[in-house]
Amino acid sequence: MIGPVVVLGMGKSGKAAVELLKSFGLAQRDILTFDDTPGLADTSDVNTVLAFSAKLAVVSPGIPLATPWIQSLKESGVEITSEISLTTRMLKSEILIGITGSVGKSTTTAALGAAALVTDSNCFIGGNLGTPFSLYGAEVLMGKRPRAKFVILELSSFQLENCGGLALDSSLITFLSPNHLERYADLQSYYETKFKIDEIARNRLFLNINGGDLLGYFNKTRSNLIASAPNRYTWVDKNRIPKDLFDFSRASLIGPHNQDNLALAFSVVQYYGWPKESLEALLSFPGLPHRLQRVKCAGEVLFVNDSKATALDSVITAVESCRHLKRPGKIHLLLGGRDKKLPWRDLSCLAQGSDCLFYFFGECREVAQKLSSLPGRTFPKLEFAVNEALTQVKPGDTVLLSPGGTSRDEFRDFEERGDVFSRLLSCWTGPNIQT
Ligand code: ADP
Repeated sequence: MIGPVVVLGMGKSGKAAVELLKSFGLAQRDILTFDDTPGLADTSDVNTVLAFSAKLAVVSPGIPLATPWIQSLKESGVEITSEISLTTRMLKSEILIGITGSVGKSTTTAALGAAALVTDSNCFIGGNLGTPFSLYGAEVLMGKRPRAKFVILELSSFQLENCGGLALDSSLITFLSPNHLERYADLQSYYETKFKIDEIARNRLFLNINGGDLLGYFNKTRSNLIASAPNRYTWVDKNRIPKDLFDFSRASLIGPHNQDNLALAFSVVQYYGWPKESLEALLSFPGLPHRLQRVKCAGEVLFVNDSKATALDSVITAVESCRHLKRPGKIHLLLGGRDKKLPWRDLSCLAQGSDCLFYFFGECREVAQKLSSLPGRTFPKLEFAVNEALTQVKPGDTVLLSPGGTSRDEFRDFEERGDVFSRLLSCWTGPNIQT
């Protein structure tokens, strides 16, 4: 019997962990929840946690394990665990596929999930993305959902730090690039945490050959493993996938980087022998909302919502991805929002192709326009910029919302900004018949 238990961090995964503990039969009085934001949990006082005589501490990924009072708990004999490790206690026959990477995790997880749903309508898709794994556990134990045959689990590096007991069947690494260096001693520690997904996989590791530092880091640190386990590592190269097996030109997902993500998912589908319809599901996977999402095509004008892009690298990737579609017309790029002191001048390269028209909106419109030196008019609100773009577009053009700035000047979050963008277009039927 587990308990008493402290649940540290009451975000989505902490709340789900409480549900799982209850479904294990633990009484409410044996669970103490903690969050440093007062009001979110039973306590925000560390001393109350230390005095609770817990046997187990479920630590949310947002709380570094190196935090001194977590270390004190550990030294006093409290077992440190996570909602993911707890969930492994209820698993039976599920086949687990884990996905990590500095970028590309969510897209690959969701695309692979779409393919898995074809073969297993009960499959679970989540983890770091969407639904916490422990909610899957709680719902199965409470009879609210059937067991999955396949579990497609996105795993962040923070989750990989604390996932004892997790046994994956196969795993994927999408990309490695410097990230989270505030939490890791150095780049190597961060990359080694990502490679933990190899240690916990029984059978196969799928690696993206175009995955940034991934190939170089693997060759530097692990090339000897290939000889000892030749069938364990699959380097996935989209250029080596025959067109008759998977025709990337038919994919809904936009951008060469997303083709890498699809190629990984394709390899997994082949490995598990899922039906042809799974490949069709990959091709028709529309992308995650607000991340280079095709919103609509009307009068041969394509609208793309990349509202999540709040870094200038992402804006450049978005423009490159639209160029990669080789549509005949211009790209109308909507830029702006709230400034995070971004180096807007990095966008000046976008003028080079002379295939882009720029519209600046929101709080940072003047700054963004001035620092980027890109030509274009400024508008106080997104709506006015969209309306202006709609008067300018011609068949073959693409309208891209990839703002760079954050959404808080006008909207609650990037989701609301993307939804407003989509709504503004909903009645628009094409360049020639607009009113
Ligand atoms: P994550 O869940 O790891 O944050 P996402 O799938 O949400 O990743 O993608 C976030 C951003 O990362 C995308 O908008 C794109 O700019 C970039 N990205 C995604 N996949 C790749 C990839 N395979 N290679 C390079 N960049 C990528």
